[in-house]
Amino acid sequence: MARLLNLVSLDADRAQSLPAALSGGQRQRIALARALAARPDVVIADEITSALDVSVQGSVLNLVRDLRGELDLTMLFISHNLSVVRYLSDHIAVMYLGRIVEVGPTEQVLADPQHPYTRDLLQAAPTRHGNLLAVDPLAPVDVEPADPHAPPSGCRFHPRCPIGPAARPDRQICVLTEPPRPTGTVGAACHFAGSGPHAALGTVPSPQSTLLVSAADTTRSPHSADTVN
Ligand code: SF4
Repeated sequence: MARLLNLVSLDADRAQSLPAALSGGQRQRIALARALAARPDVVIADEITSALDVSVQGSVLNLVRDLRGELDLTMLFISHNLSVVRYLSDHIAVMYLGRIVEVGPTEQVLADPQHPYTRDLLQAAPTRHGNLLAVDPLAPVDVEPADPHAPPSGCRFHPRCPIGPAARPDRQICVLTEPPRPTGTVGAACHFAGSGPHAALGTVPSPQSTLLVSAADTTRSPHSADTVN
């Protein structure tokens, strides 16, 4: 117990504390210690900083990053905060309405997103110097996100896609056919992946050529998993 508490930078006497006597950051450290007690191969960390005050988010994220390196852990982070994702992740998977729409190494996805939804996400994420994505995408179509219980046909993003049938009526394939999901460690589930703001006005590529799959799989096979909430 003392070793685990020490691992998450808490004094051993905290083992006697009731939850109400702990701060939000301390409770999150205890949750991490509990997850690590089982010596897992994989830790699933679901929005671990979303309920924390901004002033303590940084220390928890630094702790998580240090532990990952020290213990050689594989961690699956689930977050809406792209700054956290960029800080902690080696590899990213972007989800829209329950489907993974793009995967790839963090720097590659952030620097050169291939899926229109990823581009919209990055453009909407503010940073100190502007946005995470320097290039302006085409304006997203101004409609509400679809009901996840009744997703649109074909590509789930098609009603909002700035390069889909709402902007390009000739792209009915987006309404009719769901794009293939990425099957490797790099790829985008889009019939027109890589069609950026400028390419979007160009010729229509062959649907079969648009799924990007490459690179070796460097992920480890999970044997056990713990969730940190
Ligand atoms: S498949 Fe079509 S609607 Fe879906 S993201 Fe690609 S271009 Fe947009």
